[in-house]
Amino acid sequence: MKIFVLNAGSSSHKSCLFDLDQDNSEVPNPLWRAALDWTHQQGQGELSASSAGESMQQVLPIADKAEGIKAMVKTLVEGPTQVLDSLSEIDAVGHRVVHGGREYIDSVRIDERVKAAIQRLMPLAPAHNPANLQGIEAMEHILGNIPQVAVFDTAFHARMPEAAATYPGPYDWVEQGIRRYGFHGISHQYVAQRAADMMGRDLADLKLLTCHLGNGCSLAAVKGGISVDTTMGFTPLEGLMMGSRSGSVDPGILMYLMRQEGYSADQLDTLLNKESGLKGLSGISNDLRSVVEAMEQGNEQARLAVDTFIHRLRREMGGMIASLGGLDGVVFTAGIGENSPLVWQRACEGFEFLGLRLKNSLDRSKDDQEITAADSRVRALVIHTQEEWAIAQACLALL
Ligand code: AMP
Repeated sequence: MKIFVLNAGSSSHKSCLFDLDQDNSEVPNPLWRAALDWTHQQGQGELSASSAGESMQQVLPIADKAEGIKAMVKTLVEGPTQVLDSLSEIDAVGHRVVHGGREYIDSVRIDERVKAAIQRLMPLAPAHNPANLQGIEAMEHILGNIPQVAVFDTAFHARMPEAAATYPGPYDWVEQGIRRYGFHGISHQYVAQRAADMMGRDLADLKLLTCHLGNGCSLAAVKGGISVDTTMGFTPLEGLMMGSRSGSVDPGILMYLMRQEGYSADQLDTLLNKESGLKGLSGISNDLRSVVEAMEQGNEQARLAVDTFIHRLRREMGGMIASLGGLDGVVFTAGIGENSPLVWQRACEGFEFLGLRLKNSLDRSKDDQEITAADSRVRALVIHTQEEWAIAQACLALL
C-alpha cells in the first residue's frame, strides 16, 4: 500500500511516499521525500526532492501554495526522482493537521464535515490550520477521490485530566473551549512508544517525560501511554522558551505593553512568536547552534539566552515529573533534542537526585541511542522523531 504523507506548514511543506507492503517492523526509508520552502523570496519556492540516491533542487516561481504542491507531487512521476509510473498508484494520503479541537481525539478519514471542522478551528491555529486545509484540497484536486486521513497534533493530549487541561480563568472559558490542547502530539506519541520498545518494557507500565526540542519546543508527561500533561496550551506559544517564541511569560507584561506603548494584538503576536526566545534574547539567531557558538566566543547575551533556555527547560521538566508522580525515562527528540549533548547534559544535571546519571562521554548519532550510565536509575534516550512515518502508520491503521 502506497501512502503519501503531507506535512503542510506555514512556511514550508514536507512530504514522503511510503510503501507499506514492505516489512514494517523497523521504520523504513520512504521511497521518495520532498520539501517545499518559500521563506527566501516572495513569489518563489525552493523545491527539493530525493529518492534512492537521486535528488533534485529547483527554485520555482510559485503564485500560490497549491501550485507548489502540484510541482512537488510531479517529481514522483517525472525527472530524476521518479518512483511511480502514475499517480494512480497512490492508495491514500495522510495529513498532519495541527488543531483538532475537542472534537477530534483520534485520526479520522477526511470528508466535508472534517474539512468544515478544520476551517472552524482556524482561529485557534491561524498559522497552521489554513495551510493544512489548503494541502487537503490541493491533494483532492490532484489525486481525485482517494482516501485522505487527518492525523491531529492535538489528539494525543486529548485525554489529559481536566485539571491539567483547564485554565484558571472564569468558568466561561471552559464552556468556550479556551483550554489547554497541547501540540507536537504525533511526535510525543511516536517517541514514547519507541522508548518503551528500546527499554524492552510495556508502554502501559511506564512513566515517561518526552522532550520535543526543535524550533518549537514542548514537553509531555506520558503515563501508561497517555499524555497526562504537556507544556503547550491553547496555542503553541505556552510553556518552554523556543527558537523565536517566548513560551510562557507573565500576561501582565502584555497589558503593560498595550497600555504604556500602544501595542496592538498583531504586534504582540509578532513580538512573542517571531522576535522572542533564543532569537530575541541572544539578538543572534533562533538556531541554538549559532547561539552556542557565540556564547563560546564570550558573547554574554548569547550566554544569557542559553542559560534561560536551560533554566526554563529544567523547571518545566520538574513540573512534568510531578504530574507523572515518578519517572522511568526521559526522551529527547527533534532538532535540538536529537543533536545537542550540551542540552542533554545541562537539562539532566538538575535531576541527579532522582538517580538520573548520564554517560561520561556523549555524542550525537544518526541512530536512536541511550545516553544514561549503566547504574542510572532513570533512563535517558535520544530518539529521532518520525512524524511522517507515524502519520503513515495512523493512516494504515484507520484504512
Ligand atoms: P526542528 O524544528 O526539529 O527542525 O529543529 C530545528 C532546530 O534544531 C534548529 O533551529 C536548531 O536550533 C536545532 N539544531 C539542529 N541541529 C542542531 C545541533 N547539531 N546542535 C544544536 N541544535 C541543533
